[in-house]
This record gives sequence, C-alpha cells and structure tokens, in this order.
Amino acid sequence: MIVGVHPLAGFDKVLHYRVPAHLEPLVTVGALVRVPILRAFKLGIVGEVGAPRDFPVDRLKAVAQVVYPFPALTGELLELARWMARYYACGLDGIIETMIPAPVRRGAALKQEKLLAVAQRPDAEELNRLERRAPQQVRLYRFLAEQIRPAPKSLVLSRLGVTAAVAQALVKRGWLREEVRRIERVAYADSHAAGELVAAQPHQLNGEQQAAVDALNADLAAGAFTVSLLLGVTGSGKTEVYLRAIDTALKAGGGVVFLVPEVALTPQTVARLRSRLEAIARGHRCVVWHSFLSEGERLDGWLALATGEARVVVGARSAIFAPVQNLKLIVVDEEHEPAYKQDETPRYHGRDVAVMRAKQAGAVVVLGSATPSLESFTNVEAGKYKLLQLPRRVDARQLPYIEVVDLRIEAAKQRQFAALSGRLVRAMQDRLERREQTILFLNRRGYSSAMLCKQCGHVEQCRHCSIAMTLHRTDDTLRCHLCGDQRAAPVRCPQCGAPDIRWRGLGTQRVEEAVRRVLPRARVERMDADTMGRKDRFREVLGQFRAGKIDVLVGTQMIGKGLDFPNVTLVGLVDADISMHVPDFRANERTFQLLVQVAGRAGRGDRAGEVIVQTFTPQSEAIQFSRHADYAGFAAAELKMRRDFRYPPFRHLIQHLFRGPNPEKLKFYAEQWARLVEKTLGDRVELRGPAPAPIEKIKDEYRWQLWYFTHGVTKVVAELSRLRAEFAWADDVIQVLDVDPMDLA
Ligand code: ADP
Ligand code: ZN
Repeated sequence: MIVGVHPLAGFDKVLHYRVPAHLEPLVTVGALVRVPILRAFKLGIVGEVGAPRDFPVDRLKAVAQVVYPFPALTGELLELARWMARYYACGLDGIIETMIPAPVRRGAALKQEKLLAVAQRPDAEELNRLERRAPQQVRLYRFLAEQIRPAPKSLVLSRLGVTAAVAQALVKRGWLREEVRRIERVAYADSHAAGELVAAQPHQLNGEQQAAVDALNADLAAGAFTVSLLLGVTGSGKTEVYLRAIDTALKAGGGVVFLVPEVALTPQTVARLRSRLEAIARGHRCVVWHSFLSEGERLDGWLALATGEARVVVGARSAIFAPVQNLKLIVVDEEHEPAYKQDETPRYHGRDVAVMRAKQAGAVVVLGSATPSLESFTNVEAGKYKLLQLPRRVDARQLPYIEVVDLRIEAAKQRQFAALSGRLVRAMQDRLERREQTILFLNRRGYSSAMLCKQCGHVEQCRHCSIAMTLHRTDDTLRCHLCGDQRAAPVRCPQCGAPDIRWRGLGTQRVEEAVRRVLPRARVERMDADTMGRKDRFREVLGQFRAGKIDVLVGTQMIGKGLDFPNVTLVGLVDADISMHVPDFRANERTFQLLVQVAGRAGRGDRAGEVIVQTFTPQSEAIQFSRHADYAGFAAAELKMRRDFRYPPFRHLIQHLFRGPNPEKLKFYAEQWARLVEKTLGDRVELRGPAPAPIEKIKDEYRWQLWYFTHGVTKVVAELSRLRAEFAWADDVIQVLDVDPMDLA
C-alpha cells in the first residue's frame, strides 16, 4: 500500500510513503500518521491512496506510526479542506491545522484511567479464611463490593493504603477485574450551578413552529442536501424548532453540528441543549467546542466525536470542523453574525463552510435569524434556499414598541450634551419603581472616544495607529482600542498647552456614570471587554442580573444577543449612530440588525417591553424599518441599493490588503499589481482602488487596499494565486486576500 500524505509541518504539498503490512489495516484516507521528513518524524494526514506518478516506488520511505486507530479527518472533511483552499486562497496545510485541534495534531496520548470492579463474589467462608492470611486483600475486596459502580484504581489504593500487588492478587483469583476508561472532561458541566437553569421539558409547538419542524423532518427523511432559512422574529421560539430537528436527526442515527456565533452565548445554549438532549435520547453526550476549552477538554470532545461516541457538537465557528460521523443536520443560529467570519488565515465564513460541508455530506442545513444576512435572503429569492417563517412571538406576545428620541431636538433643549435623554431617564426611573430591569447598550467601551482641544483643535491620536485615543476614567488613561497602547490622560492639550480639553463621544463608562448620577439608588453594573477580564465574570454578572440583583445593566453589544431575561422591560440604545457612520457598505444592514436584536431583549416575560433608541438621524431606513421589525421592507430597500451599486450579494467582493512600514512603497506595489490584474483579468473582475484603507495605520503598519468584484470566486482566486506567485513582491510588503470580507476597515 502506498499513500500520499499532507504534512502538517507547514509545507503545502503531498509526499508519498509506503505503508508497512502491519499498519495497513489502520490506514485510510484521513488517518493521522507519523512520517519521516528530512531527518525528523512529522505528523501528516493521509490524503490519498495510490502511488505517485513521478517518483520511483522502491525508493519511498515508510509510514512510521498511525496515531489513532480511526481517521483524524473524514474523507468528507478532507474534501471540504480542498474546497476551502480553492475558495479562500489559502494553503491546505493551514486549513488542516485549523480543522484538527492542537492536542490531536501533536498526537497526544489518550488519557486513560484504570478502574477496579468486583468480578465474582466469593462465599463468606472463603473470605474469612483469606482474612487471616491476607487481610489487605480482603479489605480491598470488601471496599469494592460496597461500591455501586467501578472505582478509580489509584484513588482506591491510596485511600486504603494498599499496593497494586494486592489488587493484582485479587484479579488473579478472579474476584476483581480491571477496566480501562477514557477520562472525560465535560465542558460546562457546572453550568447549572451558575444560574443558567433551563427547563428540560419540551414546549407544545405552535402552528408555525410545527410547520417548520414538519418541513425539516421531511428534508431529513429525504436525506438529501437542502438549506432552509428560518426567519423568525426575536422570541419566536427558533431554538425549539432546532431541537426538534436535532431529535429527528439523532433518532435516525445521524450526527449534528450546532453553531452559535459567540462563545459568550454558548453556556446558555449548551445548558438548554444538554438538558433537552438528555430528555430526548438518553446516553447522547453533547460535545462543547470553543476557544476557551482546556487542551484536555478539547481532546476528549474531539475523540468522542471521531469515535462516534458523541453525535452532537455545539460550538462557535470552528465547530464546523468537528469530526461528527454520519452528519445529517447542521444548525447555524444567528446566521447573520459577522463573528462567523474568521479574521485571520484561513479567512473562512463558518456559515458558508457549513453549507458546503452539508452539500458534500448530503445533509440538511437550517440557518436561523430574526434578521438574516442579505446573502442568505437573496438565496431564498433565487430559489436556492427554502424559507421557513415564525412571524410571531410565542404566546403571541407583542413585539416591543420602539420609540425614537431625536437627539437634535434633545441637544437644542439641553445646553450641554447629555448621554441620557429626559425620555430615557424617566423610563428608567419608572422601571426602578416597578422593580423591573433595564439594559442600556452602547457599542463603545471607555469613557470618551476622543479628546479635542478647544483652543487649537488638536485631537490626540495613537502613536502607532491612525485613530483617536479613548479616555478611560477608571484609571485616567488614554488607550488605543486597536493596539492597546496607553498613557496617562493629559490635563492640558499636549499640542498647545491650553487647559481647555473637551471630551467627545460617549463610551460605556460615561453612560454608567450618568446612570449612577440620575438614579443614585439603582444597582448598576457595566459589562464590556474592560470589565470582563476574568473568564467567569461574564456568567457571574449575567447570573446576578437574572437573579434580580442588578437594576440597570450597561454594556456593549456583547450583552446584545441571544440572552433571555424575562424581567427586562426597558432597553435603551444610547447611540444608534455609531454603527451607521462607518465606511462599510454593510453599515445599514448592521445597524438594522443591531436595532432589531437589541429590541428583542425587551419584554420577554409576561410584561410588555419598551425600547428607546437615541439618534441624530431618526429618518434613516435602518431606524425606520427596525421600529416595526420590518425585515422584508428593509431587505427590499437595501437590496435595491446593493443592486444599483452591484455590491454583494449581487457580486462577490474579494479584498486585497497590502501592509508594510513604508506607505510610498505600499502605494507603488499596490498600483503595479493592480495594473497587472487589470491587464490579465480585467474582463472578469472589476477593480476598485488601490487606496489607503479606512484605518490607514495599525500598530505602525500602513495599509492599502484593493477590491475585486466578481461573479465567480474560485476561478478568479486561482488566477490571482498564479499571478501572486509570479509577481516580484518586496520583502516588506505583506499582502493578504480576504474572500467575502466582513470587516472593511
Ligand atoms: P428565538 O431564538 O426565536 O428568539 P427562543 O428560542 O429563545 O426564541 O424562545 C423564546 C422563549 O420562548 C424561550 O424561553 C422558549 O423556551 C419559549 N418557547 C419556545 N417555544 C415555545 C412554545 N411553543 N410555547 C411556549 N414557549 C415557547
Ligand atoms: Zn494604536
């Protein structure tokens, strides 16, 4: 047997090896093997079985070891990796590394534990006889005879103070037996303790939920690839629909991947899933997958899936690569979330990879959202995806009323700009009296976003990045939110020395301060990346909030999604304009999504919710359509604009970013390159740029960008890759391709 191996050692090609006869039964496509490369042994994945065309077979070296007796990548995942390499313009080795967790890649040994159990019960007389000769053996036997289940050997021996030889003697007698068990570290096993108790009882489905479940069940029964977009308003019970479909897939012996956009969301989702899945089908373990796992947890979860012991995985983006066997269903919750896009190589989009994986596996995909991406919605209109709708909240509760506060009028009324309008303050006071809760959102941490000198107009910028420094009042520092650089906040203008410094732009710290001033008796907590340094802090604060120990929660959008607090009857969006005025063609879409999602946090219990949005541009479409959560209206208006400009989703965008220490050199190379692309590919792509990126400098590196618009990504990527390999780049010009970018800064 001869195999082609993809080494994981950072070179992107296939090397061939002989498989010694004794290893042959273990080697399949996707097996993790150790092979000699140069003078060392390296890990690699078997990519194909068969001899090379251009190398004499008798000179091939031999595979040294097969790490696991099952494939580390299924053939289907390997196929997916190949597609990703072609689509996202990146090396196969990097993708395979992303797909296989680090401890697995290092060939970590399976953690095992020995257990002792009673094999056969001797009669009392026999025991008594032995007690005189070997009292330790009898003591050990009696101890184990009282245990309900097999006990860890090392623990028992040390507890009783007997040696391994004593246990061995009993095994020899046939009274005890030794078992080996893999140690499982179940992530979030403690999640019930953290105030995340969730009902394990399934709800009685309403008509729309039932229709959606029926449609998905039919697709699952047909066993062919389909994608359904579950468009359901916030609080319409999408999770219940996912759970029923998962139930169906599991009962049919299939495997399931459940993607959630952010780690922060995972505990709640996992707690729900866990309790429900235990009810649905006893014995199903739900593997949790995200970047905070310890190596042990990661390895255990991965092994459980690879061996087929567990059949459900729930996790963030990279869970799409979990080695789930016999994949039947993929759920992508909040499919519009930008967090699904990885912002480093390989720059894949978890949702799009999910659809491709399902296509290759013949599985069913459910994409769920109250505000689907225009990409997915367009696929519905084109007939590629099915549409399932949940237009009402469960129990037909009203969607909250959104009131828009026009900050232009507010600013004229009050002489000084205040973070909180009179309307918002009165609503908060009212909640406090009724012992209900308020959430205030502001998508900017810190105190103020810029310092401006009233005398000379100087704005203090980061020395390394082309953005203004943010004031942090908690320790009176100026901090750069891009590179983290910080220094003491000045009391006089660093430029002209004048003492007239004005702090512009709101941050969460300033909002928190304002709330404490207007509601001195309220219990206020702030939740943003600055306060959430500790790993458990997030869940701790959410637990307190749920328990009613906090009246007002101020935070960035990290508290905006997926959380369900019945006692929150007021949600305030302090500055809706932040997401609207950014240089990104998706700014409107983002703002609409943010508004609708944030509004969805209000009034989830029995009481009606109220949402107050503060803005200087109340007339904008994103705000107007969000008032009635009018997704269809917003999509139609926004898609018309996109079509006119031929922006995504009507064409794909590929972003080419050039980075380096020398801005003139960047400009020169970017322009030379653009000329070459125009000449070679001008008929297939439309170029825009090159131009300085919206943020021209980050961490002392200058940035230029060039955009390609195209209908066919893989062909253009192949051409670009060929040209890039031939082009004479300067050493200090780094250039990256980002296909379907989500972050245009
Ligand atoms: P979504 O994800 O669509 O915003 P959720 O799935 O979080 O909504 O459901 C909102 C709430 O409604 C949850 O507390 C859920 O347990 C509950 N729920 C779901 N389906 C039903 C139903 N058929 N009847 C009553 N309550 C339901
Ligand atoms: Zn900086």
